[in-house]
Amino acid sequence: MSANPVRRIYFDHGATTPMLPEVVEAMRPYFTERCGNASSIHSFGREAKRALEEARRNVARLINADPSDIVFTSSGTESDNLAIKGTALFEGRSAGHIITSRMEHHAVLESCANLKAAGFEVSELPITNDGFVRPEDVEEAIRKDTVLISVMMANSEIGTVQPVREIGKIAQAEGIPFHTDAVQAVGKIRVDVKKDNVDLLSLSSHKFHGPKGVGALYVKSGTRIGPILHGGGHERGLRSSTENIPGIVGLGKAAQIAARDMKDCADRMRDMRDRMIDSVLKTIPDSHLNGHPVNRLAGNAHFRFDFIEGEGLVLGLDTLGVAASTGSACSTGSLAPSHVLLAMGLRHEQAHGSLRVTLGRENTHEEVSYFLDVLPGVVSKLREISPFSNEHPNGDDEGGSSVQ
Ligand SMILES: *Cc1c(COP(=O)(O)O)cnc(C)c1O
Repeated sequence: MSANPVRRIYFDHGATTPMLPEVVEAMRPYFTERCGNASSIHSFGREAKRALEEARRNVARLINADPSDIVFTSSGTESDNLAIKGTALFEGRSAGHIITSRMEHHAVLESCANLKAAGFEVSELPITNDGFVRPEDVEEAIRKDTVLISVMMANSEIGTVQPVREIGKIAQAEGIPFHTDAVQAVGKIRVDVKKDNVDLLSLSSHKFHGPKGVGALYVKSGTRIGPILHGGGHERGLRSSTENIPGIVGLGKAAQIAARDMKDCADRMRDMRDRMIDSVLKTIPDSHLNGHPVNRLAGNAHFRFDFIEGEGLVLGLDTLGVAASTGSACSTGSLAPSHVLLAMGLRHEQAHGSLRVTLGRENTHEEVSYFLDVLPGVVSKLREISPFSNEHPNGDDEGGSSVQ
């Protein structure tokens, strides 16, 4: 079907990122000759243990945590599950109230739904039209039996950065554990678990140029939480199972590099993104930006084009060698409109016409130029065959201005 694209451009870093060569190099020996189990007391085991603890220090440094508060897991998904179920179900509790938001990743929403089925009550807070949870809504939702507040740090789809520090302050004043899913934020913006008043924070290696299948949960010491995986008592008893040393070494290396390069990468990405947004909104009629124009991750642009479907756009761009996404990649091929966009007040057909472009550190201005050259053609071709174009002649402005 695709006409052998002459080039391939990756603009889907919100879904996953390529591993950096330095990360691959750091991991390599731990697949082969440095094969030890970190629990063994011989030299191979001690070597693995040293690598494990060095990675822990690097991850801790990236979020200003104490190394002893880092628990390695298999993913962002597992970190979210551990934070939420491990806190709610602590010491045999079987009921209570949880506060979260409508814009969370499914790993959070489904963990909460699972607890709801088991007898907990869950409040899902609304979000504003430009994509934020309001701290005052958190404050209002708190009850005597609230056992956990979970609000993400940066949204996976529209990239908006949430007022986590204020929410953390509210939670702290009430003595309620506060979890933040920071999978999209860590490695891209400055994260400081102490200043941000968080008790639990999820991160995932593959979202910032580390390997897939490894993550971490920051657990502030003293937080009342138990394990969801039971076994040999690894990771302070919170996450049993032989540690994935190559993966953890890769995560540690990625964390070290992210801390080193964060500012430069963010500045470059922001330049490319702003150029992209300006050009798209100027040159393509009936196009809009979803989410806040400024308070969003440096690499995130999220567009909406009236009268067409995001799936068609993604496939059309793919034929030309550009990989982007619609909604999010997290619902495994689902064609349902994004729950985040619907929660922002977009209608179904508006949510369907959305395109997420997420830039990464290896992208170039030249790639952005190519994208800006080909996108108008893809959009107008889809509009020619769209049944909606005729129903709604130009100027359907209802539901949002061009910059929301
Ligand atoms: C990707 C992502 C996850 C899931 O992380 P995995 O390591 O892929 O399981 C969780 N939350 C957010 C916000 C994400 O973007």
